[in-house]
Amino acid sequence: MKSIETSDIICVLKVIIHHNMIIEYSNLNNERKIFLNKELADILYLCRRNQIPVPEINLLIIDSTDPTELPQEIKHRLKIRCMAGVEKPDNFTDLCEYEKNIQTSQSILNNNKLWIIGGGAEGAIYGFYNAVKKITGIRWYGTSESSVRFAKPAEIIEDIYRPELAFRGFEFSPSEEKHDFACRFLKWMVRNGWNLLDINASRWSVYPFRDEFIRMCNAFGIKLAIGCHAVELFVPDSLFETNPEFFGLREGKRCIKAIVSFPDINKKSESRIQPCYSNPKLRDIMTDAIVNFINNHPETYIFSLWPHDGINNWCQCDKCITKAPYEIMYNLALEITKKIKRFLPIELLCYSNMFLIPEKTLQFSNNTYTIFCPYLRRYEHRFFDDGFDEKKLTIGTRYPDPDPINPMDDREYGVLLNRWLPYLRKIGSTPGIFSYYQLVFHDETEKSDRSRYLYHPDYKIVEDEIKKFIELGVKVFYDCSPPYPNFWPDEKFYSYLSAILWEQHQSADEIIAEYYRAVAGERAEVLMNILKNISLSLKDRTNPEIPESLIRTAKGIFSNLTEPISNRYLLWIDYIQMGNDSWKALKNGDINKMIEIENHIINFFEKNRAILEECIDVDYMIRYSKSVINFYKTRENK
Ligand SMILES: [Zn+2]
Repeated sequence: MKSIETSDIICVLKVIIHHNMIIEYSNLNNERKIFLNKELADILYLCRRNQIPVPEINLLIIDSTDPTELPQEIKHRLKIRCMAGVEKPDNFTDLCEYEKNIQTSQSILNNNKLWIIGGGAEGAIYGFYNAVKKITGIRWYGTSESSVRFAKPAEIIEDIYRPELAFRGFEFSPSEEKHDFACRFLKWMVRNGWNLLDINASRWSVYPFRDEFIRMCNAFGIKLAIGCHAVELFVPDSLFETNPEFFGLREGKRCIKAIVSFPDINKKSESRIQPCYSNPKLRDIMTDAIVNFINNHPETYIFSLWPHDGINNWCQCDKCITKAPYEIMYNLALEITKKIKRFLPIELLCYSNMFLIPEKTLQFSNNTYTIFCPYLRRYEHRFFDDGFDEKKLTIGTRYPDPDPINPMDDREYGVLLNRWLPYLRKIGSTPGIFSYYQLVFHDETEKSDRSRYLYHPDYKIVEDEIKKFIELGVKVFYDCSPPYPNFWPDEKFYSYLSAILWEQHQSADEIIAEYYRAVAGERAEVLMNILKNISLSLKDRTNPEIPESLIRTAKGIFSNLTEPISNRYLLWIDYIQMGNDSWKALKNGDINKMIEIENHIINFFEKNRAILEECIDVDYMIRYSKSVINFYKTRENK
């Protein structure tokens, strides 16, 4: 609860009797104006219901790309760049700076009027959210209406608000079954300063609500990178009958799929094989299909050119194996650029076999950016921590022989990134990061099951790494941490993640403290403390013991919280206990018992679906248990 002072009460009365904050003027388009007006009405309603005083201020929301006469006293205080008459650049390097400029805003208070001036429409919208958060303390922590909270309003409202990174997004493909969630997710993104989605082209092609989705993205300033792992959309399997030579060569045979090996986990499994990219006809067919797709989908702001998912699945013909996989994809990007005859950014990956740096310097182009993907980490170290011997590097070292997929050490990625950055600079490709900070994954090295309990990694690792990425010139940041939205048991991770991608002086620990105060009031300290202790007890997975007393204390504390938070934490502690029992059974070699517990966990998720669906992708968590069962069942049968 917030303490109410006399001055506040006077203010509340004034608000109720005389005044409501309104958008007095805006030159944004109608759709955006209607949306912001609706947002403001909802905010004011919530303020009234939660007895939050709203000062007598009216808003003027300006997009400076549309030349508007500002009053002289506002104009001379304007410090951000006015973007009227500035053309959109035709290369990715300059586009990043342009994007940051149009997303920037300045708010200037003058005679009870707050002028929110955006570099572009995007800036005006972000400026609106920044201002209402400061004025009222409102926070949209999660995607559901029940997750709206109020933190302490800011003392100073005037601000320049600018992103550190031009593009901040998620890998996320909307689907028919989860359309409502997709709409809520988009709203959550704009309210929290996210602006990019990486969408799978195959799934996008069959999504029935594309038009509505695009309209929302346009209004919110969310850009679409479409493509991802969708080679089969552009090189259909049906081509195999007439042209097997277009497909990859494995063990002397052309094929669509084949068995590939994972040397670090001593495993083989079936995977799609990359096409034979050395075949000029295949490249022609594929790039034509991609250019066609882009022309038929003008919403494609960026094309994400990814190979088939998987590792060690490249064509082994004489020509293909002489080129590094990154080189193959990069050259394909240049061919697309040439055919499309206008500037369109192309997103490339630096992932698994593509970690190998090509021997030669590729042709310079600043139409691309390259996303570095530090996959399957254990978050024991920061990327750039000292003490790792470069000679022990395992990732991206063996191609065309099979590469490992699991790093031995987090710092391997730091070594690789240090090598890649100067190379990317030489060829003109802007660096980006695909982060997997909250990814739940089955660790097939069998060293840890830590990721399944969520709440991982330590925020200090996340914060320090992101600051370092920014320092190193990274311009694109994706969070790829399924199960989206990872708000279970709470929204801690996303409460600070977006904020540190924007230029601000607040640090993650301050934002986290503010979050828990907003969620748990006077119980914030005790809640943070018990969560920290639970996290510590999950740290060492060679010793999977969680003290009974810790569980009891946690349950007591969680029970005293308000609903629906209380129930979410209580379910989470039950889940931790089951997961820990499963891990213990596995470590004791009792596979049958482990499978029995995993089946209990699946039932647990089914039973509590209605409660948990608001804050986590329940199906993803079920798939995790199934993949663990499957992994050991197939091994037992061998
Ligand atoms: Zn080949």
